[in-house]
Amino acid sequence: MASEVRIKLLLECTECKRRNYATEKNKRNTTAKLELKKYCPWCDKHTPHKEVKV
Ligand SMILES: [Zn+2]
Repeated sequence: MASEVRIKLLLECTECKRRNYATEKNKRNTTAKLELKKYCPWCDKHTPHKEVKV
């Protein structure tokens, strides 16, 4: 009953749709959808990455 709050996510490049990063969030603290600027090796630049469920 400990791990309900932390959920695993993948971060997907919004340009090429590849899933480049794995992360977690605490859904009690973070209710909004994550969107982060991350380096995409496929696009070879920083792009917005949005969360997708594993
Ligand atoms: Zn990309």
